[in-house]
Amino acid sequence: MVQMYYDKDANLEVLQGKKVAVIGYGSQGHAHAQSLQDSGVDVVVGLRPGSSTFKKVEADGLKALPIDEASKQADIIMILIPDENQKEIYDTYIKENLVAGNSLVFAHGFNVHFGQIVPPADVDVFLVAPKGPGHMVRRLYIDGVGIPGLFAIYQDASGKCRDKALAYAKGIGCTRAGVLETTFKEETETDLFGEQAVLCGGMTELVRAGFDTLVEAGYKPEIAYFECLHEMKLIVDLMYEGGIHNMRYSISDTAEYGDFVAGKRIINDDVRAEMKKVLRDIQDGTFAYNWLLENKVGRPRYSAAKNEGRNHLIEQVGEELRSKMAWLKK
Ligand code: NDP
Ligand code: MG
Ligand code: MG
Repeated sequence: MVQMYYDKDANLEVLQGKKVAVIGYGSQGHAHAQSLQDSGVDVVVGLRPGSSTFKKVEADGLKALPIDEASKQADIIMILIPDENQKEIYDTYIKENLVAGNSLVFAHGFNVHFGQIVPPADVDVFLVAPKGPGHMVRRLYIDGVGIPGLFAIYQDASGKCRDKALAYAKGIGCTRAGVLETTFKEETETDLFGEQAVLCGGMTELVRAGFDTLVEAGYKPEIAYFECLHEMKLIVDLMYEGGIHNMRYSISDTAEYGDFVAGKRIINDDVRAEMKKVLRDIQDGTFAYNWLLENKVGRPRYSAAKNEGRNHLIEQVGEELRSKMAWLKK
């Protein structure tokens, strides 16, 4: 069993007397900045010039500065802006403000692993990646639970990089739930594969294919929505709590037998072979190359796919049905 690290293995005092600049205040950024500050860490948020988010950061009781100034003041710089913008922001505002002994930190290894950001040799480089969306990172920190995470050391210039990484993970609540050590390569490749093949790409296409099959066969779209999308969460919750075995215990024997005979027809050998190709495209840099180029030319494929998804019947039916689900209302 791989070693897990918990609160007792991490020491927040490592961050005492140090300033942490959290660059970006989006999904991860707001969660890291607020939770670090609540953990007693000296935090400043770095934002692009003219950002409308300055006011929001201050309303949340944090200090915000332009990215270059925040980087200059900080000992530890956590980059939490979108992966595709990190190289430019790093080259323009951060690089020149790094001094020996500083730490450069990421929540995803993409830019370092694929050679976009090449840190100087005299700074510590590590990643702390919570395994969940930023809003859950914050919500579970407040609840006192925390979200599991990964950490990795890319470059240990100070000899104390590991202690800093564990302290940072503690500051955002991850060591309450447990963190495990990985490498930039492993984190980058597995994170991209998970979101592409299973969590996001795999799941959305599975849901839509099931929905389309029922609707095209003449069944009501509302029934298809409940069957293929709504119930997904209920099934996933059972797997989250106790694994696939626990979920199968809860469903009827009819559903379980159907699971056994149909599951492997849907996720068949062709699908598994395609998964291996998706993984290879990640490993050999093809995906990173395409995604970086896509951004350089103004995201035509991304935009077309986003529109297609937004206009799919499942979205219209879902919007209508969810407007009547009182428990979903904020
Ligand atoms: P977001 O898209 O939520 O980041 C938004 C923030 O980045 C905003 O503050 C925005 O500025 C700023 N920003 C956007 N574009 C630029 C730019 N061109 N220049 C400067 N600032 C910019 O990012 P995420 O939180 O989703 O991702 C951050 C990192 O965390 C990534 O490396 C990602 O892979 C990783 N990660 C994300 C997870 C998630 O839950 N989303 C999970 C685990 C890791 P403004 O406020 O001015 O609009
Ligand atoms: Mg990811
Ligand atoms: Mg059923």
